[in-house]
Amino acid sequence: MRKSVLGFLLAAMLLALSACGKAPGAVTDPVGTDSGQSGTEAAPTEKEEEPVKKIEGNSLYVRKVENMPADFILGMDASAVPALEASGVKYYNFKGEEQDVFRTLAENGVNMIRVRVWNDPFDEAGHGFGGGNCTAETAAEIGKRAAEAGMSLLVNFHYSDFWADPGKQMEPRAWDGLRFSEKTEAVYQYTKESLEKIKAAGAKIGMVQIGNETNGAMAGEHAWEDICTLMQAGSRAVREVCPEALVAVHFANPEKAGSYHGYADYLKFYGVDYDVFGSSYYPYWHGTLDNLAAVLNDIAASYGKKTAILETSYAYTPEDTDFSGNTIGEGTSGITKNYPFTQQGQVNCLTDVVDTAVNKISGCVGVFYWEGTWISVGTNSWEENHALWEKYGSGWASSYAAVYDPDDAGKYYGGCAVDNQAFFDASGRPLQSLQAFNLMRFGNEVPLKADAPEDVTLMIDLNAEIVMPDKINAVMNDGSRQEVPVTWDLTDADKEKMKSGGVAVYEVKGEAAGMPAKAQVSMIEYNFLQNYSFEDGDAHWTVTDLAKADELRVENKATDSLTGPCHYHFWSAAKNSVEFTLEQEVKDLPAGQYKFAISVMGGDAGETDIYAYVKIDGEITQTAPMKITSYGSWDTGRINGIAVKQGQTVTVGIYVKCAGSGNGAWGKIDDALLNTEP
Ligand code: CA
Repeated sequence: MRKSVLGFLLAAMLLALSACGKAPGAVTDPVGTDSGQSGTEAAPTEKEEEPVKKIEGNSLYVRKVENMPADFILGMDASAVPALEASGVKYYNFKGEEQDVFRTLAENGVNMIRVRVWNDPFDEAGHGFGGGNCTAETAAEIGKRAAEAGMSLLVNFHYSDFWADPGKQMEPRAWDGLRFSEKTEAVYQYTKESLEKIKAAGAKIGMVQIGNETNGAMAGEHAWEDICTLMQAGSRAVREVCPEALVAVHFANPEKAGSYHGYADYLKFYGVDYDVFGSSYYPYWHGTLDNLAAVLNDIAASYGKKTAILETSYAYTPEDTDFSGNTIGEGTSGITKNYPFTQQGQVNCLTDVVDTAVNKISGCVGVFYWEGTWISVGTNSWEENHALWEKYGSGWASSYAAVYDPDDAGKYYGGCAVDNQAFFDASGRPLQSLQAFNLMRFGNEVPLKADAPEDVTLMIDLNAEIVMPDKINAVMNDGSRQEVPVTWDLTDADKEKMKSGGVAVYEVKGEAAGMPAKAQVSMIEYNFLQNYSFEDGDAHWTVTDLAKADELRVENKATDSLTGPCHYHFWSAAKNSVEFTLEQEVKDLPAGQYKFAISVMGGDAGETDIYAYVKIDGEITQTAPMKITSYGSWDTGRINGIAVKQGQTVTVGIYVKCAGSGNGAWGKIDDALLNTEP
C-alpha cells in the first residue's frame, strides 16, 4: 500500500413632525437630544465640514454617509414595544439605567418611529393574535412616547386584523360582507378615526402608510381598480386629518423586474393621491442595492414621486435568544449573506442602505429599520416565554390567531423571529451598533481589524494528505477582505479517521484573528478524468473508428445514460462494422496507485470483444474484459493497482468490437472513473 501525496486542494470561499408635522422626519432636533450622557451626540449643524465626532467606547467602524440632509429620516419600527414591556421586558440606556426606549432611540439618532396598525387583532374572548397586538390605541401610546422623545410618527395601516404582506392581505373581519362602496367608506372612516385618536394622544404624525407590502392586494381586494379605490379612501382621510403628513404607499420585492413600475402605473391610472413610493429592502432577500436604486429612481423619474425604504434589517448575531426560530441565522437557506452576522455587519449593512438612500435614490426621504426593539421576552425557557407570548401578544403570533389566519399563524405561532436583528440584546441593553444612527452622519474611524473569518469549503481526495489552509479570508470591520492566519483543531488521529471514513463531509473548527473559524471538508474520490460522463460532448476524449461504424457520437438521452443526461453512443447496421476505441490521456498524474472503471450496455452485438484498458506511455499494461447483454444491463470494467511513476503518461479507455446481429450492434458507454487507491 502506498500513500499518494496529492498536491491538489480545492478551496472556495462560501459565500455570503408637530402634530401632522412640517416635513418628513421634521422634529426640532432630529439627530440627537442633549441629554448630557455618554452615547449621545450633538446635532449636526448646517455647516458642510463637521469635525469627526466620537462616541466614547464605541469601537465599531462607521463610514460617514456624505450629503445626508439634517432632516433625512432615520426611522425605527418599534411596534411591539408595549407588548414586550407588558411581558416584563425592560430597556436600558448606555449608562446601564432603565430608560424609556423611545428616548434611547432618539438620543442615538433615530428621528421617526413607525408603528403598524391592525383593525382588530383579538379573538371574541379578547385574546390577542400577537405581533404586539398592534391597534390604533397602541399606535397612540407609541406616538405619544415618541413625541415626548422628540420623534415624529409613521402610522402604518395594514387594513387587516393581522399581518399583511405579499403573501396575505386578508380583510378585517368587521368588513366581511360589506358592499364595495361600504368597504371604501369603512377604509376612509377607520383611517380618519384612527388618526384622530393617535393625534389626540399627542403624536406628531409625519407620514401615513396606506397598506403594507400591497403587492397586488389590499384588505382582501385583488383587482387594481379596487385596491386603488380603497387606497384613495385612506389617502383622503389622511389629507383631511393630517394635511401636512406625507401619504405613503408600500410595496415589497424590488428584485422582481418591472413590478414597481407596474404598481405605480396602476396608482396613476386609478388616481391614487400619494407622496411617497416606499419599498421594503431586506438585503438577504431583495436583491442588490443598485437594483433597488434603479427601480426607485424609475418611479421618481416616471411618476414624480418621493421614495423611501420603509423596512430593512440585518442580524447582529446568528444566535436565537428567545427559543423561537429566527428568520435568518447561520445556514438559513435561500438567503444572501452579504455581511457577517455581527454588530459590525449590521452597521455596515445599515450604512450601505442609508448611503444608497441618500446618495443614489432620487427623492428618498428616509430609511426605516424594522423592529430594532423587538427582543426576547425572557432567557429562561420556551415554556416561560410561550406563556408571555400567548398572554401579551409579544411573539410574532399567538395560538389565538388561528381563528383569523389558520394556515400560517394558526400553525406556526411562536416568539420573535427577529430578536437577532435588534439593536438591544436579550436583556434590553443597547448594542454599540445602535450608535451608528448618529455616527453615520460623521463617520467613526477606528483601526482596521478582522470582524469575522469567512467559512471555507474544501474538497480533499480520500487518499491524499489532508492539508488545511494556513490562511483564510476575513471580512474586516470596514467591509474589505484580507487574509488572516488560521489554526485548525485537527489532530493526526482526526485526519486518519477522515481518510478511513470513506466519502463524507466534516466540519473542522479552528481559530483565526482570535475568532472561531470553520471549514467544511468534503472527503471525496477525486476523478482525474475530465468530462467523465460525456456531459460536455466528446471533449477530452479521442475516438478511433477502426471499422467505419454508422454512428459513433455523444447522445443526450437520460434514459439511456448511466448518470446525467448524456453518454457515448454507438450503432452500425452492417456485420463487423463496429470496432473502435474511446480513450482519454492524462498527463502529469502525481506518482501513486490508481484504479480505473468504465461502464457499457448494449445489444444485438453478436460475437464481441470488449475490454477496458490502461496504457502507460502508450503501451497497454492492463485490461479488463467486458460484455454487452441487453438494454439496461450495465457492465463495469474495473482495473485496479495501476502504478504510475512521476512523468508517465496514462491513457485509459475502452475497446469495442462487435460482429453484430439483427438490427446491427448498438451500445452506450458512460461514467469513466480514474481515482487513487489507498
Ligand atoms: Ca427568536
